Amino acid sequence: MSLSDTIAAVATAISPQQGSVGIVRLSGDRAVAIAQTIFHAGGKQIWESHRVLYGYVKHPITKGVIDESLLLIMKAPRSFTREDVAEFHCHGGIMAVQQVLNLCLEQGARLAEAGEFSLRAFLNGRIDLTQAESIHDLVGAKSAQAAQAAIAGLRGKLTQSLKYLREKCLNILTEIEARIDFEDDLPPLDVEWVKAEIGIVGQEAQQILATADRGELLRTGLKVAIVGRPNVGKSSLLNAWSRSDRAIVTDLPGTTRDVVDSQLVVGGIPIQVLDTAGIRETEDVVEKIGVERSRQAAQSADLVLMVIDASVGWIEKDAEIYKTVCDRPVILVINKIDLAPSISEQEALTPSPSPIGGGQEKIFTPPLLGERGLGGEGIPIVKTAAAQQQGIEDLEAAILQSIAQDTIAAANLDVAINQRQKACLIRVVQSLDNVKIAIADQLPLDFWTIDLRAAISAIGEITGEEVTESVLDQIFSRFCIGK
Ligand code: GDP
Ligand code: ZN
Repeated sequence: MSLSDTIAAVATAISPQQGSVGIVRLSGDRAVAIAQTIFHAGGKQIWESHRVLYGYVKHPITKGVIDESLLLIMKAPRSFTREDVAEFHCHGGIMAVQQVLNLCLEQGARLAEAGEFSLRAFLNGRIDLTQAESIHDLVGAKSAQAAQAAIAGLRGKLTQSLKYLREKCLNILTEIEARIDFEDDLPPLDVEWVKAEIGIVGQEAQQILATADRGELLRTGLKVAIVGRPNVGKSSLLNAWSRSDRAIVTDLPGTTRDVVDSQLVVGGIPIQVLDTAGIRETEDVVEKIGVERSRQAAQSADLVLMVIDASVGWIEKDAEIYKTVCDRPVILVINKIDLAPSISEQEALTPSPSPIGGGQEKIFTPPLLGERGLGGEGIPIVKTAAAQQQGIEDLEAAILQSIAQDTIAAANLDVAINQRQKACLIRVVQSLDNVKIAIADQLPLDFWTIDLRAAISAIGEITGEEVTESVLDQIFSRFCIGK
C-alpha cells in the first residue's frame, strides 16, 4: 500500500435502486487533475477549493455522459485526509457511483483499501488514533447514546485526557532523569511530589478505565436471551417489547424489521434479543431441544429473561430450564399476569401440586429476594401481560438496574473506551504501580524511569503516537472501504 497514490472509493453506503445520493471520493495529489479530466462544469463556474460545482461526469474519450452530479474540491490541508480531496455527489443506487468510480480508476487512481482515508487522516496528523476509532464507532452506532459517546471521542475528549496524563508523566520523568544526569547540581528529588503526581495520574487512568464496560455496552449492546417453556408467552413478550414506544426499534423506512432479530434500545443501550430459546418453536418441538436451546442461548447472553406462566405457576419444566440458565444474570418474568392478577411472587414460584400426586417437593425453585447465595440477593422478578402490552416498562427498568451498578454510572460519561484502549490503559496503571513499588523499595532512579517510560509508551499507543504498523493495520482494516 503506497501512501503517495491517489485513492478512490465510494464513500456512502450503496444498495441497488436505493438512496438518492452516492458519493465517490478521491484523495491524493492527482485528485483534482482526475476530477478535471472527467468532470464538466458548465458556464462560468470557478474551480476553487471548498466550492460546489455543478455539471456532468463524462468519459474523456467517448464523451458519453455518465452522471449529472455535484463536485466538491477540498484542497490540502483543509480536507479530511489533509490531502487534496475531490468528492463527486452522484445519483444513488449502484450504477452511477460505480461508473464514476471506474472512471477515476481508469484515470490512475487506486481503489482505496478499507479505512485508508481515515488512516491517511491519522498519518497526516489530522486526527489521533482514538478519533479514528470514534469515526468507526459513530458509523456503527446503534443508539443515540452510542453516537454521543463517539462524537465526544471524535471531538477529542479522550485525546485531551490522555494528553494531560502523558504530559504529567513526561514532567515526572524529566525531574527524575535530571537527577540521574546532573545529580550534584540540583536540589534533591522531591520524592513526595513524585509519589503524589504518580498517584494523580494513576487515579485519572483508573477513571478512564472505568468507562470501558460502558463503552463495550454502547458499542456491542447487550445480548438478551428470552427463555422459557413453550407457550409461556416469549414471542408475545418480544412483540410487545419491540412495539412499545419506549424501546425504539431501528425502524427506518425501507429497512425490513425482523421481530425475531430485534434490535431494541433501552436507556441508550442497544439490546440484541438473541434468536434462540424457542422463539420460533413449533408445537411439535421435542422438550429436550427446548432445554438445550435455552442453555445455548443463555451461554452467549449477557442477560437472560426467563418467562413463566402465571396461570400455570412454577412447574418442573421451568425448574429444568432455570437450572440451565441460572449461572447467568437472570430476570424472572411472570407473564400472563392478567390471568392471575392477584398472584404474589411467592405463589407464582411455588411449585403447583402435581396432578399425579407426590414428588412436587423435589422441584427446584429459584431463590426469592433475600435468598440467593451468600450475598443474599434474590433474582429480580417482573410481572407482565405481554398480550396486553403490560409490564414492559417494569421489564426495562429491571434490565437497566441489572446492568446499572458499575457500567451506566461510569465516572466520566463522555468517554467510553474500547477494548484496545482498555488493554493499553491497564498497562499504564500497572507501570505506574511498578513505579510506586520501585519508590517504596528505594530502588535506584533508573528503575523508576523504566516503568515510567513504559507508562508513557502505553499512553502513546492509545493515541497512536507510539504505535506499530501491525496495530494500525488491525485497527483500520476493520473499517469499511471508503471510510
Ligand atoms: P411462546 O411459545 O413462549 O413464544 O408463547 P407465545 O408468545 O406464542 O404465546 C402463547 C400463547 O399465550 C398465545 O396464545 C398468546 O396469545 C398467549 N399469551 C401470551 N402472553 C399472554 C398474556 O400476557 N396474557 C394472556 N392471557 N395470554 C398470553
Ligand atoms: Zn414463541
